[in-house]
Amino acid sequence: MFHFDNSYARLPDRFYASVYPEPVEGPVLLKFNEALARELGVEADYSDPARLAAIFAGNVVPSGAMPLAMAYAGHQFGNFVPQLGDGRAILLGEVVDNQGRRRDIQLKGAGPTPFSRRGDGRAALGPVLREYIVSEAMHALNIPATRALAAVATGEAVQREQVMPGAVFVRVAASHVRVGTFQYFAARGDNDGVRTLADYVIERHYPQLKDEANPYAALLQAVASRQAELIAGWMGIGFIHGVMNTDNMTISGETIDFGPCAFLDEYDPMKVFSSIDQMGRYAYRNQPGIGQWNMARLAECLLPLLDADEEKAVEVANTVLKTFGERFQAAWISVFRQKIGLRTEAEGDGDLVQELLGVMKDGGADFTLAFLRLADCAEGRTAAFLDLFADPVAAAGWLAKWRERLAVEEGPEKERAAAMRLVNPAVIPRNHRIEEAISAALVGDLSLFQRLLQALEKPFEERPEFAVYTDPPKMDQRVTQTFCG
Ligand code: AMP
Ligand code: MG
Ligand code: MG
Repeated sequence: MFHFDNSYARLPDRFYASVYPEPVEGPVLLKFNEALARELGVEADYSDPARLAAIFAGNVVPSGAMPLAMAYAGHQFGNFVPQLGDGRAILLGEVVDNQGRRRDIQLKGAGPTPFSRRGDGRAALGPVLREYIVSEAMHALNIPATRALAAVATGEAVQREQVMPGAVFVRVAASHVRVGTFQYFAARGDNDGVRTLADYVIERHYPQLKDEANPYAALLQAVASRQAELIAGWMGIGFIHGVMNTDNMTISGETIDFGPCAFLDEYDPMKVFSSIDQMGRYAYRNQPGIGQWNMARLAECLLPLLDADEEKAVEVANTVLKTFGERFQAAWISVFRQKIGLRTEAEGDGDLVQELLGVMKDGGADFTLAFLRLADCAEGRTAAFLDLFADPVAAAGWLAKWRERLAVEEGPEKERAAAMRLVNPAVIPRNHRIEEAISAALVGDLSLFQRLLQALEKPFEERPEFAVYTDPPKMDQRVTQTFCG
């Protein structure tokens, strides 16, 4: 079924625990991502849902798999926990896809592991569908993210705040190595473990760094750059991860762990959706600062590798960490320049964007629609844009400044609008649509889930048949809180 080549299983024993999925009562295939399966070279009868369900639920372990739970630690909301690990996720193995990329196949919710602590090792249907929707949406929005290969109902109940139907989510990732994986070894004073892991991720994710004078400093720099770019990408689509703990931050630079994540409707930089984020630590605008904080935690783990002399090692780490802010700023301005249709760079562009965001905040404008309708403005149609603001006068004032800035650029406005529509989505997985899809699925109707996935496949196109997915929530549709799985 899979052509497994399991490199993580070849690492020392203390990196993971071997564990088999616990079979479930009644596996039923809810969704199978055929296109991704082909990309991964999955050989199976794609029209045999029962067989696929048995495999993706963990009831049948495909040949060549070496199931394991990875060890990791992490800072959760700033507090260090020396042992977390895969408490409900089991890595089946790795495949090399049709483009030569090595990818993990992981079952989330496949039963208890030695890292489960008091957890049941299971996942509930709602969060599984949520992760499916959002991870595939991110991919279509050109944001690096783990992918969804399948979702399977288990036929078993799980106890959460209420009793919920259980499900397994099949996740595909460039790897599941996290900042927290480094912290696991560093916290134990296991410098050999840190070095082995660093060598492993360099080989797997950053092979070009092997020949650098200081490959470990280069690794830190590379991860920091990817995270800075990733978070700039999040900011550009109004994505709030919601739980940016160090165990939820990958070394590969993919977005991972779509628990309480959510997208902005109206623009509010302090926005928080997650019910457990009482202090707003992971609010929209805090994300770059938290990214840098997490990179500092990674740097601490790598210190013994950066230089034999401790003071020099700290200096190397600080030099790299200082670049995070610059990297983020550069990536951020590049993202938002494109969003407002600029082709050239000029001083003051950052201020122009900030001013727009300020007007959006004051005017309660929908984040996604404001940029989408700004593309219309490039073609001279401003009504729909101005309608988004409680105070259209302020918005019109900003448009005047924007036009002045555009006037110094050459080229047809038609092309500008088209370029803007390539980066400003019409469809994002809005919270009320996700909730609606999950509520229907909980009573056995998967049609809204399927429909939402279809709408999200081409997020940059305004297709009339999916127009409702572009609309922001009405007052009574608003979802203000999200929950962890
Ligand atoms: P997360 O909040 O998903 O990032 O998970 C944080 C930690 O809690 C990880 O070690 C998870 O494996 C573990 N965990 C979360 N839910 C469960 C569960 N239902 N059973 C066992 N472990 C869990
Ligand atoms: Mg072991
Ligand atoms: Mg996690």
